[in-house]
Amino acid sequence: MEKGTINIQTENIFPIIKKFLYSDTEIFVRELVSNAVDACQKLKTMSAAGEVKGDIGELQVEVILDNKAKTITIKDNGIGMTAEEVNRYINEIAFSGATEFVEKYKDKDANSIIGHFGLGFYSSFMVSDKVQIKTLSHKNASQAVQWESDGSPEYTISEINKKDRGTEIVLHISKDSKEYLEDARINTVLNKYCKFLPINVIYGEKSEFIEDPKGEKDEEGNTKKIEKKIPNVLNNTAPAWIKKPADLKAEDYKGFYSELYPFSEEPMFHIHLNVDYPFNLTGILYFPKLRNQVEVQKNKIQLYSNQVFITDSVENIVPEFLTLLHGVIDSPDIPLNVSRSYLQSDSNVKKISNHISKKVADKLGSMFKKDRKDFESKWSDIEVFIQYGMLTDDKFGERAEKFTLLKTTDDEFFTFEEYKEKVKDAQTDKDSKLVYLYSHNAEEHHSLIEVAKSKGYNVLLLDGPLSSHYIQKLEEKQGVSLARLDADTIDKLINKEEAQPSKLSKEEEDKVKPVFESNVTKDKFTVQFESMSETEQPVVITQSEFMRRMKEQQAMGGGGMQMMGAFPEMYNLVVNSNHPLTSKILAEKNKGKKEKLAKQAVDLALLSNGMLKGKDLAEFISRSVEMID
Ligand code: ADP
Repeated sequence: MEKGTINIQTENIFPIIKKFLYSDTEIFVRELVSNAVDACQKLKTMSAAGEVKGDIGELQVEVILDNKAKTITIKDNGIGMTAEEVNRYINEIAFSGATEFVEKYKDKDANSIIGHFGLGFYSSFMVSDKVQIKTLSHKNASQAVQWESDGSPEYTISEINKKDRGTEIVLHISKDSKEYLEDARINTVLNKYCKFLPINVIYGEKSEFIEDPKGEKDEEGNTKKIEKKIPNVLNNTAPAWIKKPADLKAEDYKGFYSELYPFSEEPMFHIHLNVDYPFNLTGILYFPKLRNQVEVQKNKIQLYSNQVFITDSVENIVPEFLTLLHGVIDSPDIPLNVSRSYLQSDSNVKKISNHISKKVADKLGSMFKKDRKDFESKWSDIEVFIQYGMLTDDKFGERAEKFTLLKTTDDEFFTFEEYKEKVKDAQTDKDSKLVYLYSHNAEEHHSLIEVAKSKGYNVLLLDGPLSSHYIQKLEEKQGVSLARLDADTIDKLINKEEAQPSKLSKEEEDKVKPVFESNVTKDKFTVQFESMSETEQPVVITQSEFMRRMKEQQAMGGGGMQMMGAFPEMYNLVVNSNHPLTSKILAEKNKGKKEKLAKQAVDLALLSNGMLKGKDLAEFISRSVEMID
């Protein structure tokens, strides 16, 4: 037996590993299993190149939990190591400037330290009191050796009797980490990191029912089925994303989606990414049916490096709006093991993320071109995604201008260009400003939409969760202004000519104004008169576009507006001076009756804005019943 000290230029690396990496201990599984997979793949490659002679058998990695011995063993039949290699790869850790390293990385996550310094194997000490390596090299006439260390820099190395090729890493799990001795826990972690590794990873056994080899029959004359225990393979070694798109059918893509997200609703469509220059990237991205659940659907993309699961939080790695997509990205070129802040500034990551953004735009563009009707039918589900993209990624925004659709309250769809063409004649006001009208809720705005349509205007439906931000973007991009139907009376929204003459004189307006004012809270409503058409409502409630947007943005937590205190809730109560009811109220001599009529007109306006509630609504109803009598 030989003794030695692990060659690192610090007194002791293990306290560092234990102390700083503690929060993310489960990644020892990823590190050790992927080392084992690597060892198998190396052997496979060498065999294919003729460097290793003879049958190498079926390569596999096995994870064995021994509850009694309190050990977890990761066993492979890969290339193995000679004593000399153990010395070179395990004992000589290329690791200088350790003190500096600790200073620099003590706040970072385990991922950053482990990968960066090639300490994969040493992550085992995060969870173990003692680690043994038992290994036999594939090389002819090798002597099997065992390396052992208890977490101090001292190790021993000795010759052992091991007949089968490959390496076993035996972890003697520490008290602190006994959670990993639970079958359920280790199973979960294995499934997380190993699901698509390229070499079979086995954990435990499972039952399979096969036809009785003795051919015994049951009562119905069918061959009996008997239970057989077979190794439980955790992974799919050939996931869809590594295959050629030409070899995959629509079902294969759907099948893979449910492999990734069991019990999820089918996605709408997918993009298969396959790049080999200037970087390597494969993957499949799916468009889920987003509906309006932006938050629920976010951050489901899984990031892999050569089929090793790295993370499912890809914020900062792919453009923000792409986090709404689902699926897998696999790239050995993303420096996955370094810290997040580094990732964001990494030029490879930037290139990759630009590339994905472009691919997504291309896909949407080609879908639009190929089958516009189909694209329109999917619009409600992709709308949020495209709007999100336009808001956060200018390049994408530019590309998307060709296929972004505007939906009207009549369920018609137009591209930006088409829509401008459609409304520019009718909706340009006297100052040559083009105004797009919109509603956030076609049902609530039913009567307003009818009024607008009767004037020959078109109304857009902007009812998505991002609308209030998107509207501003739309104005910028299209050089138009957008006005919500309830922001003012229609003739003010699109101001075409001088207003029609009012039936009421200024004195008459002043006379009737207090009757209306007495029905509303003064600091919330401003009463004003407008000469509208007789056929429009007697009283209309509006809220200025500007005020409402400010309020909406404040509600969404937009830029520093919290500082300004809450925006007041301000409305205009617009009395239609040409409506017969207004003249009637003015002419009414009986004071009680006059007030009642005004109150009724105000309540009707509140009601149509969904603002009449509780006690006021109840009073309105009984007053209405009374008036019918
Ligand atoms: P890295 O994998 O980043 O090189 P590790 O500390 O995980 O760093 O491993 C160091 C080296 O030890 C590996 O590069 C490999 O040569 C060797 N090694 C680790 N595990 C195995 C294994 N199961 N079989 C053969 N060699 C291994």
